Amino acid sequence: MKTLKIPEATIMRLSVYSRYLSEIDRKGIITISSGDIAEGVGVSPAQVRKDLAYFGEFGIRGVGYNVKDLHRHILKILGLSEGWNLALIGIGNLGLALSTYRGFKDRGFNITCIFDNNPEKVGMVINGIEVLHTDKIEEIIPQRKTQIAAITVPADAAQDVADKLVKAGIKAILNFAPVVLNVPPEIELRNVDLAVNLEVLTFNLGGRMA
Ligand code: ATP
Repeated sequence: MKTLKIPEATIMRLSVYSRYLSEIDRKGIITISSGDIAEGVGVSPAQVRKDLAYFGEFGIRGVGYNVKDLHRHILKILGLSEGWNLALIGIGNLGLALSTYRGFKDRGFNITCIFDNNPEKVGMVINGIEVLHTDKIEEIIPQRKTQIAAITVPADAAQDVADKLVKAGIKAILNFAPVVLNVPPEIELRNVDLAVNLEVLTFNLGGRMA
């Protein structure tokens, strides 16, 4: 089923569709058309149909999609049907905000461990999780079967942390540090550079105002 190369933009829209479907499901709605999904998330109906067509036919012509089935299917495609364990490295302002973000848990991401190298933070308990020293990454990550790590340390510490995570067998990294990380090709790496995103906005605003 996954032999086709799925564009990343499609994957990101699937995530948006899935959040919308979960909301619709909670309201007790049984079936939905591609037009309704499109309107709900702000894309064209043709785009919704095209995105879903990558994964085969699941709508019934004239009836639409069964909300629960479609939602389940999309969660499976996104690898979210079983839930994922997540480690957080660096419990400064951003790390703390992420550690208390309900959206992770709601989407099946379970924070299993938190690391920092500041002796004043090691030993703190956040949402029932004890902050451990980064020296323990290699021991704890496999022990707690954690596949994904979010890096929220300063830029100059991020590569060292990434190296430790790779040694510990992590499969994917969400990097919030504003620095380019070198990791082996088999590691899934995504960068979330908040300043870059803001600068895209200011560029667009500037462009519009010029
Ligand atoms: P705070 O002032 O509370 O540390 P902050 O968000 O300003 O908050 P940063 O300097 O961005 O802090 O650091 C984020 C976190 O990363 C801090 O908790 C810091 O102790 C931790 N940190 C810094 N260097 C490392 C490292 N090499 N390994 C692990 N954690 C680190």
